Amino acid sequence: KDDGRGCWCIYTDELDRRFKHRRSTEADLRDALADGTGIEVYYQPLVVIQSGEVIGFEALARWRHPTRGMVMPQDFIPVAEASGLITALGERVLRNACLDAAHWDPPLRLSVNVSPLQFVQGDLVGVIERALEDSGLDATRLELEITEGVLIDDANGTLALLKRIQALGVKVVLDDFGTGFSSLGYLRHFPFDKVKIDRSFITDMIGSCEAIAIVKAVIFLGKSLGMEIVAEGVETSGQFDLLLDLGCTQAQGYLISRPMPIQHFKGPILRDEGT
Ligand code: C2E
Ligand code: CA
Ligand code: CA
Ligand code: CA
Repeated sequence: KDDGRGCWCIYTDELDRRFKHRRSTEADLRDALADGTGIEVYYQPLVVIQSGEVIGFEALARWRHPTRGMVMPQDFIPVAEASGLITALGERVLRNACLDAAHWDPPLRLSVNVSPLQFVQGDLVGVIERALEDSGLDATRLELEITEGVLIDDANGTLALLKRIQALGVKVVLDDFGTGFSSLGYLRHFPFDKVKIDRSFITDMIGSCEAIAIVKAVIFLGKSLGMEIVAEGVETSGQFDLLLDLGCTQAQGYLISRPMPIQHFKGPILRDEGT
């Protein structure tokens, strides 16, 4: 009996601790967004598999917390989404990434993640237009990555918004393809410019005929629909070579580079303007 009560107490203590942690994360994030400090953008290159040429970078948010050090997206994106702060955060990342990308060599593209909430909260199209205008980045160099989650609640409203975004010249990418429930249906109803095969399939490829069959099918499907195909989470040269054999055109992953501050790529990939 006593044991049972002890367990209950530990359980509630743990919940209480998590609740407090979440609340302080939210408060600190709100401060960071108000100050305009602490939110940083790291970049991970995308390469053409055939040539190894870098064709662009995905912007990934990082949070330099005053006491906790560098906080990763998994520890603040969910909090930002639950609290609605993701809209301000997403806007910050988009603006700063466009300002960076405007200095890159012209063929290089920028890919930015957009949360489902940004489609229902705030003026997404206006935010994109202003980010392009203020940075001078050409719309055709910007890609927005969305996950299927965005299409579930209000599919028609979202599709209309996505078409307005494409009308600006911006490309729309379906991220984490294969992890949702109705990926195929979405491909039929919306003309994505590009599809990213989820990392889980790439990880499982070596040693799983089923994973290979799925990757192969996605590549075939994407090509038939005139979409670009990216494999994400490529970690080994075995995976890279297999993707080349399967006809996948683009790759991203630790094998090529981890996400880094943009300075890291100055010189080797980017023009160094001495900034
Ligand atoms: P994602 O959009 O699928 O981004 C890819 C994630 O996989 C990144 O994690 C990246 O660092 C990681 N990754 C890349 N290559 C490899 C690899 O070879 N192996 C492994 N194990 N991982 C790899 P990160 O930066 O921690 O971001 C996690 C997620 O957080 C992102 O997944 C995205 O959903 C979200 N996120 C990040 N930045 C933003 C943002 O600015 N806005 C929104 N809405 N979401 C963001
Ligand atoms: Ca992404
Ligand atoms: Ca992804
Ligand atoms: Ca993912």
